[in-house]
Amino acid sequence: MSDVRYDVVVVGGGPGGSSSATFLSQAGLKVALFEREVFPRFHVGESLMPATMLLLEQMGVRREIEACGFQIKNGAMFFDEENGLQRTFYFLPGQQWPNYSYEVPRAEFDTILLDHARRSGASVFQPATVESVDFDGDGVTVRVSGAGAPPMVRARMLVDASGRSSFIATQLGERRRRPNLGKVALFAHFRGADRLSGKEEGNIRIYVVPDGWFWWIPLANDITSVGAVMHARTVRAWTGTADDLYASMIARCAPVAAGLARAERISVVHREANFAYVNTPIVGDRFVTVGDAVTFVDPIFSGGVYIALRTGQLAAEAIVRAFADGRFSARRFRAYQRRVERGVAPLFKFIHKYYEPAFFDLLMHPRNFLGMYEAVLNVLSGGSFIRFRWRTRLSLGLVFAIARINTWVRQRRGRPVDSRLEW
Ligand SMILES: Cc1cc2nc3c(=O)[nH]c(=O)nc-3n(C[C@H](O)[C@H](O)[C@H](O)COP(=O)(O)OP(=O)(O)OC[C@H]3O[C@@H](n4cnc5c(N)ncnc54)[C@H](O)[C@@H]3O)c2cc1C
Repeated sequence: MSDVRYDVVVVGGGPGGSSSATFLSQAGLKVALFEREVFPRFHVGESLMPATMLLLEQMGVRREIEACGFQIKNGAMFFDEENGLQRTFYFLPGQQWPNYSYEVPRAEFDTILLDHARRSGASVFQPATVESVDFDGDGVTVRVSGAGAPPMVRARMLVDASGRSSFIATQLGERRRRPNLGKVALFAHFRGADRLSGKEEGNIRIYVVPDGWFWWIPLANDITSVGAVMHARTVRAWTGTADDLYASMIARCAPVAAGLARAERISVVHREANFAYVNTPIVGDRFVTVGDAVTFVDPIFSGGVYIALRTGQLAAEAIVRAFADGRFSARRFRAYQRRVERGVAPLFKFIHKYYEPAFFDLLMHPRNFLGMYEAVLNVLSGGSFIRFRWRTRLSLGLVFAIARINTWVRQRRGRPVDSRLEW
């Protein structure tokens, strides 16, 4: 048996792993974090929700992030190619979080967070892959491969922050794909793309086209990340290369094509597929999962990094409480699971509704009636995971009710009502 002992082992050094390792170390626990890749490494997910800033503050790394010169994001622009409608939303001041956020190259951002976890006291091993885990009555034995990492360690708790690799679900449970959410994203970085100025410069732009949608994320130093998200069916029907499909998607969306007319592609075309799933179990005897290791639905509202940071924080709080009373059973972590489920539910419902034409119409014609506008911006900022007041809930309920009426009106007028998810 190994004599390398920790209180907690964290699998993965993305935002979820760095967040949990930071909070656990700051609470005085002895933490080992294993990350299989050498950082900096490329990662998808560059646009951050405003509530992320609150988390960075609580981790103690906000000032460092703010000093990096990342592109500031003040709002989000939605464009519907079907009818040419365009709407820009600006994040509201006067919330618990700032009314801006950043767009970041994840290679740099994730490295800063992981270094911060190390400085907070966590032992970070990298490159080090967690190969297997064995739980018993006293703790967990973790087997690791990779130069410079101990081959076997013991800990009393484990945090699975392995992202879409979903370590625990793959080893002990199940990874279920969400029905009707078979999508593929193709994306790349460009230099010299069209840029807005002033407050608008960093606005993320979402272009909805008949075959899917685009993200347009302005990064610092004249770099723009452009992603095409389409149904898996579109990809299956394509007989050429992924690069050609990406180029043809761009050609089909006039504003994106125009914006890139003078730009130079400076990266390969990356591909992500099958990214909508739900994992089980989320908690168990002596383990909890965080971030993408719990679930992922869809990147439309840029929630992934924020959810990873926040679940990392909530998991750390639950683990610290478990250490205080010496109980590490699954039951001990059910409250954490419920908190995660409650936190992501409004955002996931929003994502689901977003693809329904009647709801999208409503989004494109926002009304500031009975707090509806604020409620929408609260969800889009990440607020549902912080404090979701009954007034916000009520206003959101109203938004969904009006969307149902819109559906009925559209039906009567013979306009499409089916969710674009079910393409
Ligand atoms: C197409 C697409 C676009 C997206 N756009 C956005 C966006 O604009 N904004 C946003 O907020 N989110 C976005 N996301 C989501 C975002 O990328 C993730 O939600 C976020 O990275 C989750 O963080 P995490 O720490 O849970 O996982 P990750 O960031 O994936 O980190 C997991 C880490 O674990 C490591 N690891 C895995 N297995 C092991 C192992 N066995 N041993 C050791 N290490 C291991 C991996 O190397 C990795 O570094 C997008 C996702 C997709 C698919």
